[in-house]
Amino acid sequence: MASTLTDRLSRLVKTMRGQARITETNVQDMLREVRMALLEADVALPVVRDFVARVKEKALGQEVVGSLNPGQVLVSVVHKELAATMGEGVADINLAAQPPAIILMAGLQGAGKTTTTAKLAKHLIEKRKKKVLTVSADVYRPAAIEQLKTVTRQAGAEWFPSAPDQKPHDIAVAAIDHARRHFFDVLLVDTAGRLAIDEALMAEIRDLHATLKPVETLFVVDAMQGQDAINTAKAFKEALPLTGIVLTKLDGDSRGGAALSVRQITGAPIKFAGVSEKIDGLEVFDADRHAGRVLGMGDIVALVEEVQKGVDVEAAQKLAEKLKSGSGFDLNDFLAQISQMKKMGGLSGLMDKLPTQMTAGKGGPADMDKAERDMKRMEGILNAMTAKERRQPALLMDGKTKASRKRRIAAGAGVQIQEVNRLLNQFDQMQGMMKKMKGGGLMKMMKRMGG
Ligand code: GDP
Repeated sequence: MASTLTDRLSRLVKTMRGQARITETNVQDMLREVRMALLEADVALPVVRDFVARVKEKALGQEVVGSLNPGQVLVSVVHKELAATMGEGVADINLAAQPPAIILMAGLQGAGKTTTTAKLAKHLIEKRKKKVLTVSADVYRPAAIEQLKTVTRQAGAEWFPSAPDQKPHDIAVAAIDHARRHFFDVLLVDTAGRLAIDEALMAEIRDLHATLKPVETLFVVDAMQGQDAINTAKAFKEALPLTGIVLTKLDGDSRGGAALSVRQITGAPIKFAGVSEKIDGLEVFDADRHAGRVLGMGDIVALVEEVQKGVDVEAAQKLAEKLKSGSGFDLNDFLAQISQMKKMGGLSGLMDKLPTQMTAGKGGPADMDKAERDMKRMEGILNAMTAKERRQPALLMDGKTKASRKRRIAAGAGVQIQEVNRLLNQFDQMQGMMKKMKGGGLMKMMKRMGG
């Protein structure tokens, strides 16, 4: 299940190879895959429909640059649109109010309201240097009040007592009064949740909202709720002017498609993500990163963007031409290939950007580190050569002056002579390989990454 989206989109990327443009014809197939993929990630159907329509509009006519294929470009369009829909950038908590700034927590029972209240208290104390008071208006479950007391202590905030025989309205008034008199910056109000939406609950929280006049009304929703999240979100949006969303339990194995649904339905920004049961398991929501999670595409998107903007596709093409025309591959080309790789973030950068199943079995991070160090050293050696030596590698391989030349190069690059020899051996092998590949190394490699 968890890999379905990756599989689908990778397959899609493969099948689109060799096509130069996103057209009305090929976009249909691709969008069908995107639609299925989003449904499988638990995004609600009406939200998927809207989303796919927007992607289509943005994708049509997109140019497919250099070594990319339409599938890759579409993945990048989908990613951008996902990130935009879920809210670009980050939205922190608004505390712009006459103190205490009041934050009302709303959501179903079990969504993570109480836990999130304490996490948020800790966040505001540590990151915003605020003096924070919490209170529970859950008069139905004495255990919920006790739970808030416990987690508030863990957060290092203060807890205002309440009891099951009080009215939520009275609790609110007393807590505000206490917060004012003791100069609290923020008052966090935890509320009762039910297992399902019911009218009495909604009426109660509406009243509470009228009493509190909170600067933030946060809707806490469980990311594992999947398709159901849409109904819950609708009900809470109708009852309250929501100012933000907290998506909890993102440490679970859901793909987090609920984020898209909830964001679309409520129109409120997703401000935080709950990522563990622990008190410090709260993160400022990062739409861009979350889009990657919903897509499950490793970071092929970043790769696509780099190819689109930075990497010298022209130089790679020139090299390919040169090889095709049969003229030799010299050390200058070798150097060019290495700097090309560096532009793309080095070997490990490149590997990181690919979905894991595409790179599985190609060596772990330790291998990558070593490969990268080797690459840097090789570059150093190549730079210590004269332009003529790079153009005519034979001078170093069988020329009369090869020994003294190699000594000079080794000294210049700060390496042992053996390293220079090793590089020349590698170059020799690569030259052989290049002749066989004809099409040119980097271009081939980039194409292969497409499938
Ligand atoms: P409430 O009924 O809305 O107040 O929900 P609680 O705060 O009591 O949370 C319900 C359960 O979800 C508890 O067991 C929490 O520990 C757990 N929980 C809350 N947030 C997260 C989260 O971000 N990740 C994980 N793994 N568990 C969470």
